[in-house]
Amino acid sequence: MTIFEKICAKEIPAKIVLEDDECVAFHDINPQAPVHVLVVPRKPISRLIEAGEDDRELLGHLLLRAAEVARRLGLAEGGFRVVINNGRNAGESVPHLHVHVLGGRPMSWPPG
Ligand code: AMP
Repeated sequence: MTIFEKICAKEIPAKIVLEDDECVAFHDINPQAPVHVLVVPRKPISRLIEAGEDDRELLGHLLLRAAEVARRLGLAEGGFRVVINNGRNAGESVPHLHVHVLGGRPMSWPPG
């Protein structure tokens, strides 16, 4: 089980923002912005490249939940960034698909 599966199963504590049948959203333990939340599918897809056509609805759901997290945590007006790190060069460190929601400060582009 990945650490995120354990969080979804409530075997490891996390500061949960919202959850439903398909996903859990919780605060990142090492926040990179004033607001940094991870939206994690309960289904243990390793990373985006491993998602299939069967996951079409789930992937859309994760983005809608990311927007809901942003709304609930007051990021809708000021803006926020949504990030998925896929693989080594992107800095992926947990092999369980997750959508980062970052906000609460201005961000530069391109990302590092
Ligand atoms: P990534 O580098 O895209 O794979 O993102 C993994 C994220 O998971 C990092 O931002 C970590 O800080 C975060 N993380 C790792 N363990 C935990 C945990 N137990 N609770 C919350 N966030 C975690």
